[in-house]
Parts: sequence; structure tokens; C-alpha cells
Amino acid sequence: MQEGKLLTFVKSLATLLETNPSEALIFSQGGKLLENLIREDDWLPHEFCKPHPQYYQQYLLYADPLDRFSVVSFVWGPGQKTPLHNHTVWGMIGQLRGQERSSNYYQQADGSYAADESFVCTPGQVASVSPNTHDIHIVENALHDQTSISIHVYGGNIGRIQRAVFDPATGVEKLFISGYANTVTPNLWNTTPNPV
Ligand code: FE
Repeated sequence: MQEGKLLTFVKSLATLLETNPSEALIFSQGGKLLENLIREDDWLPHEFCKPHPQYYQQYLLYADPLDRFSVVSFVWGPGQKTPLHNHTVWGMIGQLRGQERSSNYYQQADGSYAADESFVCTPGQVASVSPNTHDIHIVENALHDQTSISIHVYGGNIGRIQRAVFDPATGVEKLFISGYANTVTPNLWNTTPNPV
């Protein structure tokens, strides 16, 4: 029986992290693993593809029991976007469906945040965030007429980490813990095809 793609990814990433890799190695080798996962859009169960009419959704797909990493599907309805936020841990974002625009922000001398580089991810592409380089951004669905979905991988249990949102104009920081939209996670050992 063929192993499911999400299980293959989780096993390969856990094996990589066993070697205590540098962040650069996580992004290069882990990024390739994520590219393999998102190369085909035929494995994400439809329960974890559902948009909410008002809010973007964060569905936990898998969390490492030792909190070394988590895998989350982000589902964006048309026009939905995040506030300006950070992560505090490394993160990789693989575009599965649709298009997302990520805009990095940097704090200015007066405390406010200004947008710098901005890029649009299309299916198959992987982007990254890191507290060592660029950790503060806004992400939005770049499509106004359809749902976009990306698979995020973080160097911790992202739904349980205390992090921050920022008012771009004033720089005022507010702490938050995002949690997850789902109460149950996918069965990684299920090999029945899921219609998308
Ligand atoms: Fe983010």
C-alpha cells in the first residue's frame, strides 16, 4: 500500500530535524520536502480546505509531540488577509492552491512599520519567514474570486506559541496565541483518496 504524502513529509522532516540542522539547512532541505508535498494538489482532505465567510482558517494537520514543528493548512476566502504579525520561529509556506501575496514590513525610526518587499506565491512555490531575517509580514489572498490554500510548516507548535500583532501606524504590539480552527486532525495513515 502506498504511503500517504502527508505522512511521507512528516517522517522526512522529523528525520531531518533529528540531525539538529542549521536554519539554512532546514530551509534548503526541508524546503525541498515541502515542494514535494505541494507538487500535487490531491492529498489534502476536504475538511481542511474549507474557507470561513469572514476569517482565514488555520487547520492543524500535524504537530510534533516534542513541539519541534507543526504543519498547518491556511485557507483564505476571497479578499481575506492577516493583520501585521510575527512568528518567533522559522516558517516555510508552500502554495497549494490559488495565490497569496506576502508583504514584509520593517520597523522605522519612529516606531511605525513600513512595507518593503512583497511577492505573490503561486502553486508549487515555497517561501519562508524567520526571526533571524524577516519575521513580520501581512499575508493576503491575492485572488478576489476564489479560495487560496497554503501549507505552512513552523519550527514549533505555531497555534500555541505566544506571538504578536502590530499596529503598522504606531508600532504598538499586542500579544496573541492563534490556536487552530479544527478539533480533530487528519488520519495520516488513511489511503482512501479524498476528492478535492
Ligand atoms: Fe505569517
